[in-house]
Amino acid sequence: MKTETAASIPSTKTDSKRDVISPLDGSVLSQIDIAGSDSVKGAVEKSEQAFKSWALTPIRERAQFLARFKEKVEQNMGDMAQLISQENGKTKGEAGDEIKRGLEVVEFATSIPNLPMDSTLEVSRGVRCQSEHSPLGVTLGITPFNFPAMVPMWMFPISMVCGNSFVLKPSEQTPLAALRIADLFHDSGLPDGVFSVVNGDKETARLLMESDPVKAIGFVGSTPAARSIYALAGQLGKRALALGGAKNHITLMADADPEIATANIVASAMGCAGQRCMAASVLILVGDCSALLDRIIELASKIELGKDLGAVISATAKTRITGYINQAEAEGAKILLDGRTTPSAGNPNGFWVGPTVIDGVTTDSDCINDEIFGPVLSVLQVDSLDEALAIENASPFGNAASIYTQSGATAERYATEANAGMVGVNIGVPVPRDPFPLGGWNASRFGVGDMTGAEGIRFWTQTKKITSKWSNKAARSWMS
Ligand code: NAD
Repeated sequence: MKTETAASIPSTKTDSKRDVISPLDGSVLSQIDIAGSDSVKGAVEKSEQAFKSWALTPIRERAQFLARFKEKVEQNMGDMAQLISQENGKTKGEAGDEIKRGLEVVEFATSIPNLPMDSTLEVSRGVRCQSEHSPLGVTLGITPFNFPAMVPMWMFPISMVCGNSFVLKPSEQTPLAALRIADLFHDSGLPDGVFSVVNGDKETARLLMESDPVKAIGFVGSTPAARSIYALAGQLGKRALALGGAKNHITLMADADPEIATANIVASAMGCAGQRCMAASVLILVGDCSALLDRIIELASKIELGKDLGAVISATAKTRITGYINQAEAEGAKILLDGRTTPSAGNPNGFWVGPTVIDGVTTDSDCINDEIFGPVLSVLQVDSLDEALAIENASPFGNAASIYTQSGATAERYATEANAGMVGVNIGVPVPRDPFPLGGWNASRFGVGDMTGAEGIRFWTQTKKITSKWSNKAARSWMS
């Protein structure tokens, strides 16, 4: 697995510009600012200022701003999905789905005031201890290109309802959805500075992390970046939760329901052009699954590029993905379905790779071990569940792992023994839905806890313990 050191930055970084390129046709959609030192300083100061009154705003009022924001997003769903499709390359339908999934976290966040989170107890005569979830201050989210709306929504709704201000540093490849989110907050009447977007690259991200008022960092992206961000946060003495990359396995048992299993496996591996941290990337066949594999190829070959499936994020990504296919072929693999040659209904200047299925590779092949992040499924054949679990559990990642079977006992064993944070039984993309928290294990997550649900509340708050005594009548004790 590749490693990366924290971005080294000059002591001062000047603002610059960057083109936003549409993967659908290679056109320039817009130009964004890449924030330098002064812009970062200004944005963080504004966020710190906004925090002071936001933290004192009653939690129910804070939640109401998020409820209004949700309404605005729903009213603008079509436009926003279109924008995401243009900047990310996914289909408009996939973009709409990511917005809806993100809004589920907003919904959860608006319900936080109704959760009995804080407690009080008379610990001695007349003496009460009380614990409260207090906000942290300015919080920071650094997010990836693949879900420009949903991943930020894993973070800011919970952080903001808990009383923090939030600065979002979206991927420099897909910054437009974030700017739209900022506009919709503005339209919802949110006080200035409570939510802000700072566009930029990894140097900008590091400047933000190093800013004194930033107290907590939520990160989602590749494993090398997650590892280096978590290490930097440790040096800075700041809390961080950094979700990283993945290499997800699906184990297919011969007794699986043929239609459900094959359709789900194709959707998991190829959906969003394979650019999902939960995408199936390795298919482990246990026993004779040849008819099931034939059906997978048949279904995947029917996917139309530009209609059912979008483009990959960049020309660089396309070269990387096709490079893995070329390498597997050169090592003697059979390319059962070749996405390098799939005709595209989209613009030829876009970055298209079709569904690909690779067979005949060994467990030490790069296509079995590296995160390819494209619509590529590599197939391994084994004789037993023991072997399948051994392959799954040898992976340094641990985001998702799924099994298809009709045997409860097999499923139960797999769910218990698979070394991954999110396990699916007859589910190809086992993303937990709120209020269940989202997060992987091993090299897919650096830090303690998960990103959403009650774990999100824990991450974006600190507990204050207040011990008080008002009664003079109660007897004295050692603590009063
Ligand atoms: P990336 O790591 O290249 O970039 C993610 C974000 O981090 C961007 O905003 C980028 O500007 C910033 N960044 C990159 N390197 C940095 C550094 N050294 N210091 C500070 N900031 C840095 O990831 P990407 O290519 O945008 O996204 C794809 C990756 O994200 C895949 O590996 C995918 O598995 C992962 N991902 C994981 C999850 C999850 O839940 N675990 C969810 C979505 C995506």
